[in-house]
Amino acid sequence: MGRGKRFHVFPAGLRKGEIMKGKVLLIEDNEQNRYLMNFLLEKHGYLVIEAFDGPQGVKLAADELPRLILLDIQLPTMDGYAVARELRKNPALDHVPIVAVTSYAMAGDREKALEAGCTGYIEKPIKPATFIDQIEQYVDNAPRERRP
Ligand code: MN
Repeated sequence: MGRGKRFHVFPAGLRKGEIMKGKVLLIEDNEQNRYLMNFLLEKHGYLVIEAFDGPQGVKLAADELPRLILLDIQLPTMDGYAVARELRKNPALDHVPIVAVTSYAMAGDREKALEAGCTGYIEKPIKPATFIDQIEQYVDNAPRERRP
């Protein structure tokens, strides 16, 4: 856990041999939110990698080229907008959707996230019943080329 990522090759509920849906990078400092998103994603066949802050997230994204990035906006040291701008400097991530996750549902936040390079936006608290559908619309809409 100290290195900030965990791999579960065959998550619970996924039979051995079933095709994984892809890697999702969580950049989130709150342990409960990470736990909930991780649980829901693995249950639906995603491989989850985790970063607890922006710099770690930027590095993991470059190393792992995930299929989707879930980005908390309220992070220590470097906020989510700054992280999104940094991620968008990396051309290898051009086609990777970045979904902002924030509890700040104030007017202008969505625009700010999109301006920073995010593809979309979901609000906290995470709703287990709809979370996967919410993020899968971004996965499905993402161009297929350059996907690892
Ligand atoms: Mn946070």
